[in-house]
Amino acid sequence: MIRIDRGDEPEGLVLARDEHLARARLRGGPPVEFRGYEAARGTLAARQLYKCAYCELTTREEAAPVEHYRPKVEAKDVDWGGLTARKVPKTTDFEDDARFARGLPPVRDGFDRVRWTSRPGYWWLAWTWENLVFGCSGCNSGVKHSRFPQARTARVLEEHEVPPGGEDALLLDPADSTEDPIEHVQYRRVYNRWIPTPRDGSLRGAWTIALLRLDSSPALLTAYDRRIRRLESRAHAFDAACASGAAILLEAWKGLCAEVFAPNEELLGLTYDWLDARYPDHWRHEHDLMLDKPILRVGGVERGVASRSAVPPLDGLDGLPGTLCDHIRVARNYHVPAGKREQPSIEHKPLPELITEILGHRPGATDDELATLLNRKPATIRKHRR
Ligand SMILES: [Zn+2]
Repeated sequence: MIRIDRGDEPEGLVLARDEHLARARLRGGPPVEFRGYEAARGTLAARQLYKCAYCELTTREEAAPVEHYRPKVEAKDVDWGGLTARKVPKTTDFEDDARFARGLPPVRDGFDRVRWTSRPGYWWLAWTWENLVFGCSGCNSGVKHSRFPQARTARVLEEHEVPPGGEDALLLDPADSTEDPIEHVQYRRVYNRWIPTPRDGSLRGAWTIALLRLDSSPALLTAYDRRIRRLESRAHAFDAACASGAAILLEAWKGLCAEVFAPNEELLGLTYDWLDARYPDHWRHEHDLMLDKPILRVGGVERGVASRSAVPPLDGLDGLPGTLCDHIRVARNYHVPAGKREQPSIEHKPLPELITEILGHRPGATDDELATLLNRKPATIRKHRR
């Protein structure tokens, strides 16, 4: 896992957030069903170069959910009271109990002894760009699901509170600009395989690896092997250049790094640790060679992202009462599908009624001004203006 920097949010998500938070205010509570955040899917996928934010494997856009880092519907926490006891304990259970007491996850086989407690999810962050990542279904359906454990001393966010507040999430957030997942997860060669391990005993590294099965998913272990074989064969060319002398070493090193850290390559976290192990720090120091941690940044490489900006900016509401503003927010992003009738609800004010109410506050508003405010055609406004 590496840090990802996806740039600015797409306008479609801004509008979806505006609409759905207004709906929640009008309803007086969280939504019954979550819609609208899919507006971010294409942009997330393209800017992450179709790689899962967690495992760094390429995946098809259609096959991948828009992943909410903080789960939207329900969040499951670890009950730190202790692991459940098995009727017939295994010898490893004692080791797991001791690990758990130190805040570490039990090793694989003991993971089902963790007791989970449920609390409402972070529904108000369902349309928040910083909370969304493009992730593969494998990572989502590993152990993670709606699990979002906090360290023992953390204080969970209140409704509407902005993260991180008093939280100390044990799942690393690759989109967090304040920390680098590489600081917490280190790939190491263990016997004949490369697997991720917690760097310097990081608790968050340990839980992230366990929750996403980064060290046990057969598909991932196979992908690590495949990647290492490719890296090793590339390294032979560099080793040959090393043997030719120091004069071309720097250029050869830059070429190697550019190639193995190419943004669309998979498993750049593994690549970093492999390079660091194969050409260790003291050797690089001796030859004056740098090894930077890879970050996936938006580099203007956006394949197939359609413009979603066919809607007006979110202004023009000054001076109007709050509830009316919320009805306008819902109306201007919500169009009744062709051939269907709008279902009356507290979130939907019929258009003629909405126009009349706006005119009560802005008697001189023209059809064009109302059309802009409500994101409708002037002809539609004329039709419904009483
Ligand atoms: Zn994944």
